[in-house]
Amino acid sequence: MSGPRILIADDHQETLEHLGQMLGEWGYEVIAADNGYRAWEVLHKPDAPRLAILDRRMPGIDGLEIVRKIREQGQEPHIYVMLLTVYDNETHVVDGLSAGADDYIVKPFRAHELHARLEAGRRILEILEQLIRTRDELHSQATTDSVTGLWNRGAIVEILERELSRAVRINSSLGIVIIDIDNFKNINDSFGHQAGDSVLLECGQRMRGSVRTYDATGRYGGDEFLSVFPGCKVDEAVMLGERLRREIARQHVTLGLAPIWVTASAGIASSDLFPEVPAEQLIALADQALYRAKRGGRNRLEIAESPQLAPSDL
Ligand code: GH3
Ligand code: MG
Repeated sequence: MSGPRILIADDHQETLEHLGQMLGEWGYEVIAADNGYRAWEVLHKPDAPRLAILDRRMPGIDGLEIVRKIREQGQEPHIYVMLLTVYDNETHVVDGLSAGADDYIVKPFRAHELHARLEAGRRILEILEQLIRTRDELHSQATTDSVTGLWNRGAIVEILERELSRAVRINSSLGIVIIDIDNFKNINDSFGHQAGDSVLLECGQRMRGSVRTYDATGRYGGDEFLSVFPGCKVDEAVMLGERLRREIARQHVTLGLAPIWVTASAGIASSDLFPEVPAEQLIALADQALYRAKRGGRNRLEIAESPQLAPSDL
C-alpha cells in the first residue's frame, strides 16, 4: 500500500534528491518537481497531493507565489504547504505564512524536525477532513427530506429560485409541476401512518427515477411534491409532469400483503407562459392548476391559466 502523496519542489537537484529519499524512507509517495511551473501544474489539478514542500526561491514561479495562488483559488481539500527557506530571516517567515503557507522549515534542516512537522501537518489535514465530512453531512441533512430522501421544501424552493434566475439570464425557460397524492388521508386512515410514509417514499423514488438528471424533485410538504424542469417550455413540462403522474399510478405499492393503488394530480406552470414571474408566484399558479385537477376528478394534470378577472374588476 502506498503512503500519503507529497509534492517536493526545489530547483536544487541535490536537495530534491536528498529530500525525496528521506520522504520515501518515511513511507511517503513522492512527486518531485525541479521548478515552480511543474509544481504549480501538479498542485492545481483536482487530484493534487495534500502535502507539499516548496522551495521559497525557484526560477519561474517561486514557492511563495504558488502558495498565494493556491489560497486565492480557495482550493478544497486544503493543501498543507511547507515552505523551505534558506536562512532564518524573520521577514521571509512572515511573508511565507501571510501568503498562506502552513509552516516553514529552514535549510539545512534536521531530518527529525522535518519528520515531526510533517506528522503535525498530517494531523491537521485529518482534522480538516473530519470537519469537511461533518459540514457536508449537516448540509445534506439540512436539505434532505427524511421520509423520501428527496430535497426538502427549503432546498427545492432554493433550486427553483436559482434555476429561474438562470433561465432569465440565459434567455431560456423553466417549467414546474406540483404533484399531490389523491385521497392520501384515506391511505393513512386505512393502513396507518407508517404505511403512508412508505407510500410517500415509493412515490418519491418513482418520480426521481423518471426524470432527467438535471431536473430536481423535492417534497414540498405533506403529500405534495415539486419538480423543477430547467430549459422546458410548457409542452415539455406537461410531458414530464404527465410522466411523473403516470409513474405514480403505474403499479400498486406493495406493503406486506396489501396492494395499495395510488394516483396523483398535477398542476403545471412555466416561465414561457408567465414571464418575469417570481418563484413563489409560479408555485402559486401551479398550485391553482393542481386544485383544478382535484376538482376535475383527480388523477389528472392541469396547466396554469392567467388569473381570471372577476366581473367586478371589469
Ligand atoms: P386530496 O386528493 O384532495 O389531496 O386528498 P388528501 O386526502 O390527499 O388530502 P391532503 O392532500 O390535504 O392530505 C394530506 C395528508 O397527508 C394529511 C396529512 O395527515 C398527511 N401527511 C402529511 N405529512 C405526512 C407524513 O409525513 N406522513 C404521512 N403518513 N402522512 C402525512
Ligand atoms: Mg393529497
